[in-house]
This record gives sequence, C-alpha cells and structure tokens, in this order.
Amino acid sequence: MRLEDFSVEDQKVLIPRPGGEMLYRCLGCGTHHGIDELLYTCPDCGEVLLIEDQQFDRLKKTPGPRWREIFDLRRMLNLPAMKGIFRYQEIMAPVIPLDSVVYLGEGHTPLVEANPPLRQLIGRDFCFKNDGQNPSASFKDRGMAVALSYIRYLIEHQGIGRVLSVCASTGDTSAAAALYGAYLAPAVASAVLLPRGKVTPQQLAQPLGSGARVFELPGVFDDCMKVVEHLAENYQVALLNSKNAWRILGQESYSFEVAQDLDYDLAGRALFVPIGNAGNISAVMAGLMKLFDLGIITELPKVFGVQSRHADPVFQYYSEQDAARRVWRPVTVRPSVAQAAMIGNPVSMPRVVDLAIRYDQMAGGDKFQVIQVDEQSIMDHMILANRHGHIVCTQGGESLAGLARAAELGLVSSDEYAVLDATAHHLKFIGFQQMYFEDSFPPEFGVHPRPELINLPQEMVAEGLQQLPAPGSPLEGEAFERYVTLTAGEIATRLGLEKRS
Ligand SMILES: *Cc1c(COP(=O)(O)O)cnc(C)c1O
Ligand SMILES: [Zn+2]
Repeated sequence: MRLEDFSVEDQKVLIPRPGGEMLYRCLGCGTHHGIDELLYTCPDCGEVLLIEDQQFDRLKKTPGPRWREIFDLRRMLNLPAMKGIFRYQEIMAPVIPLDSVVYLGEGHTPLVEANPPLRQLIGRDFCFKNDGQNPSASFKDRGMAVALSYIRYLIEHQGIGRVLSVCASTGDTSAAAALYGAYLAPAVASAVLLPRGKVTPQQLAQPLGSGARVFELPGVFDDCMKVVEHLAENYQVALLNSKNAWRILGQESYSFEVAQDLDYDLAGRALFVPIGNAGNISAVMAGLMKLFDLGIITELPKVFGVQSRHADPVFQYYSEQDAARRVWRPVTVRPSVAQAAMIGNPVSMPRVVDLAIRYDQMAGGDKFQVIQVDEQSIMDHMILANRHGHIVCTQGGESLAGLARAAELGLVSSDEYAVLDATAHHLKFIGFQQMYFEDSFPPEFGVHPRPELINLPQEMVAEGLQQLPAPGSPLEGEAFERYVTLTAGEIATRLGLEKRS
C-alpha cells in the first residue's frame, strides 16, 4: 500500500523520524557515554556496554494497543527500509534515520508450525522461527543491519572517513559482517578472524565471497576474540563482534517479530534460544522487556537459554540456585556440533546477569532459565526435525533438544507453547549431518547415529548392463533403451513398486 492510501491519522505515525537520545551504559560502573564515538567497552572500567534510549518513556505517550496497530499497518507499507527490522525503529534504534538503513532482506523470518507427528514425539506444541532464512542464513544479520546502518549514518551524516571493520567469529558473524560491509564498499572494508578448522567450509566461503580479508588463526574462538579486542583497543577499526552494543539492539527485533506474529499474546509461551557468546539471549530478553514496558505485550514469556554440555559456562553459573552464591567461571570448551555456540567465555555474560535479574523482576517470577543438553541429543533432534520438514541447523537442533529436556524436567507444561530459535540454515552445518549418516564422528564428540535416522545414497548400476553412459559419451539406440529399462526395473525392485495394470 502507498503511504497516501492510509488514513491521515495513520500517515502521521507510519514513517518514523529520528528521535530519542541513545547513550552507552556501562554494566560495570554504571557510567553513561556518548554514541558519537564507537565504543565496545567502558573507557573508565573496561566492562561491556548496553545502548539505551534516555527518552524511552516518551514512547509511553502512545498506548500499547496503538503501537500494535502501527506495527501491523507498517507491514502493508512498501518502503524497503521498513520491510525488515526497522519497522520497529522507535523501540530499537530511534537515532538512525531511514535513509541510512541498510536493508538486505533481514528479518520478517517465518514462524513455522512444528509438524504434527514431531509435536507428538516431543509431547509439546511448538514452532520454529526460521532465522536461517536471513540473507547470510543466520540471525546475525539482524544485528549487522543495525550496526552497519549506524556506521553508514556516521559516514554519510557525521563525515567519518572510511571504516575498516573487524570481527572474530565462529562463522556466522563473519559471514554477516562481510555481507553488509560489502554492500557499503568502498566506504567500508572488512577483515575477519576465524579459528582454523572450527568453522564449516560453507561459513568460510561466505566472507571470502563477499571480498573480506580472511585470517585463519590457531586456537578456538575465545583466542580469536582476544586478538580482535587487542586490535580494537590499539588501532583504528570498527569492532563488529557482539561486544558492539548496536548489534544487540538489532537482535531485539527477533522478540518484536515473535510478539507480532503471535498477535502480541505471549502468555503461556516459552522461547528457546541457544547460547554461545550470549548476545542473542541478551537481545531477546531486552526486546521483550521493551514490549512489556510499553504495554505492547501484557505478559512476559518464559525464556530458556540452551547450552551443550561441551560449552556450558552460563548453565554452570545458573545451576547454583542461590543467586548470592553464584560465581562466574569461564570453561574450557570441548568440540561441539553446536559449533556456532562453542564458547567458553561469553563476552555478553555481564549483560545476561544484568538483564536476567530485571527480566525476572518485571515478569514477577523465575522466567529465565538455562538448560543443558548433550551432543547426542542435539544431533538426534536436528535430524529428527529435518526428517519432519524443517530446515534446522545443529543450533536449531539444540533448541529442540532444550525443549525436550525442559519438558522432561517439568519446566514446560503440555498447555504451554514453545517458540524455538532455528538460528541458522541447515546447509551451513551440513558436515555434521554427513558425519552422523556415515557414523564418522571423532570420539571426543561422543555422538553415535540412531540407525533408523541414517540416510545414505545408494549406488545404482543395474545387473546385466554391458555399456554405461558417461559424461561426453551418451548411449544410443538399443544400448540406451537397455540402460533405461534395466535401471528402472532395478529401482522398482528396491522400492517394492507394483506394476501398472
Ligand atoms: C552466533 C550463533 C549462536 C549463538 O548466539 P550468541 O549470540 O553468540 O549467544 C547460535 N547459533 C548460531 C547459528 C549462531 O550463528
Ligand atoms: Zn564502566
């Protein structure tokens, strides 16, 4: 619909104007810092930051039901900058004007109802939110869209010069950073640091294809992160890891979309999110609280973080029930199929701690929890989901394993409805499926395939064929006919097909 086709009243609110006053807030010393400079940690104490709108309360002048209407009407508006996550500009990143928005098709990912037999198997009703349907095939695009839109704003409106962006990555951050950076070339150039052998070939191909400088380092993600932090502290670069608080803002859009797609009714819902660096779980909680604060939703859902036993520092922290006795200890990770979440020292842990306390206060009870699952369960649930028509990656499998575990522990009842974050597309992590089907997991994973879930191609050369076709030398005449009938006959036998009468 064109803007002029809406009512005059609606026209006034459909196109957001830049507003608000966003500042970094330090989670260590509480100091506020201006956003004119790109900061990643507090210049005073070194702790991580969140960006908050000091004038957020001005948005309360608009009643919650009117906000719902505005977001719903905006869906009908054919304006590229507002097709995706900037539909929620006022509550997400109000200082960014629409003409700075980089929109590559991120957001508006579907909630896909779990297939009925799969629901029966798990014993709970749920859907997947397919965030692998983002442009670089993971949810990381949400955060990059905001981070790069802000950088574009600084370049085009504030006259900062060329930007070299850097990030460390378990694969998907670098794919997203390189993609959005390439869209802004030559004003933005990207460099990415990856742990050698710890990202999939697909994920390695993505930043290469986008033209980023790619450095493969020995070690694991946590080592790459330290090098990137050193670069950001000592050189002129823009850091695009989730230390960059702009990314957290963009990832809040996940919660906004879940709410909107469920008609703003989150009572009796439970969200499951895999935790790696803990940026996404932070964003999901922060976004939900904004919706609640503005009366856009009237009840907060349960939020479950999920971690593999092989990389579970957040689970370990919260396994101490007495909040006063919790101690934060990074862990040494072991190889995990949920490789994008294989992080022992998540940089956003202070954010989780800060947000979880506020979340539970706002929700009026313990609504944030962390679930631990094992590698076997992650793989089994990924394959099972995909066998039922879904496209989940290993991390999406982790979300489903988390739901199964939460159901087993009695933390989600059968009348609750779960929304599982399928964080990336299945094809990015296809090597793990291959290892499962071939039963070739290295022992440290501890994964053994369930025989009924294995699926391998069958070689098919019909008996009695003397001549075979090959590239460049097709069969002809009788030989070709023989090839077709004998091969079809053999396939029909293997499939147990009945002859047409
Ligand atoms: C990054 C990533 C995660 C983990 O998210 P965090 O924000 O690091 O906790 C999970 N799944 C996929 C596919 C990812 O790319
Ligand atoms: Zn500080």
